[in-house]
Amino acid sequence: MIWLSGKELARERRKVLRQKLKLLPQPLCLAVILVGKDPSSQIYVGAKENAAKKAGLHSRVLRLPEETSANALSLMIEDLNLNPSVHGILLQLPLPSHLNAARHLQEIDPQKDVDGFHPLNVGKMTLALPALTPCTPLGIMHLLLHYQIPLEGKSVAVVGKSNIVGRPMAQLLMHAGATVTVCHSLTINLAEHLRNADVIISAAGSPDLIGPECLGRPAYLIDVGINRLEDGTVCGDMQTQKLSEHPHCLGLTPVPGGVGPMTIQVLLENTYFAATGTGIDTESI
Ligand code: NAP
Repeated sequence: MIWLSGKELARERRKVLRQKLKLLPQPLCLAVILVGKDPSSQIYVGAKENAAKKAGLHSRVLRLPEETSANALSLMIEDLNLNPSVHGILLQLPLPSHLNAARHLQEIDPQKDVDGFHPLNVGKMTLALPALTPCTPLGIMHLLLHYQIPLEGKSVAVVGKSNIVGRPMAQLLMHAGATVTVCHSLTINLAEHLRNADVIISAAGSPDLIGPECLGRPAYLIDVGINRLEDGTVCGDMQTQKLSEHPHCLGLTPVPGGVGPMTIQVLLENTYFAATGTGIDTESI
């Protein structure tokens, strides 16, 4: 069993990105819009700022009060779209309940959409055309590639079908030649579906969801979940300790230190792609 360290891979990729950024005529700027005071979002935005700084990329966090109106948010997005010194725009989710995330994500210029959530980028990615691609699934693809985990002709089970993780993950896996099963909260007998998989990717946000009963053959396990427990500790969706000791477990991502750092690294790489006008060719991943 090997630990699939996103932290190490992200560090390696950051060095490469730093060199590429040095060759550009001007420093790049990533604008992050944070509306309200969601505690997890504050932490995530802080981590993104930190990573951007380490890579040599300027990040500008625009903090808006909880009661910000839809029109005020739209105007801010328009301003950033038109500002040539801003290369990437990220709208931190979730938004307060009176704001409609789908509406505002569509207002971001697709060429600055470093999260890859704009319908135009989602469509291109689905068609395997070069596109700004959602950070978490793309980060997982890089991790699988780095650890030489085969996907062609393999069975991969994805738990979760959100627009942020599960759906784009399934698309990228299909582009890579995997046979993909997508499970969700209405899936009957989850473990049975997972037991046939060579790779299991869980993005449910449910602690302890995946245990040894889900391993029916040798498999690699990718834990996307970030769950904050009552005692303040953070865990994924997988029963990490038990699974890591299971003879069928070939590799496992730790939480923290697995998928999370890769998500942030891809965000910075997407800002580079946005600024240089090149999308990611999802067929070549
Ligand atoms: P989400 O929008 O809440 O989606 C969760 C998905 O999991 C839904 O499709 C849901 O099914 C499914 N699900 C929930 N409970 C399930 C269960 N018991 N069995 C089977 N399926 C179940 O969440 P998300 O934004 O995709 O995020 C998922 C998790 O990943 C969260 O813990 C989040 O914090 C974490 N995350 C981590 C990173 C990272 O960088 N590490 C990035 C993004 C998200 P239905 O569709 O049927 O409701």
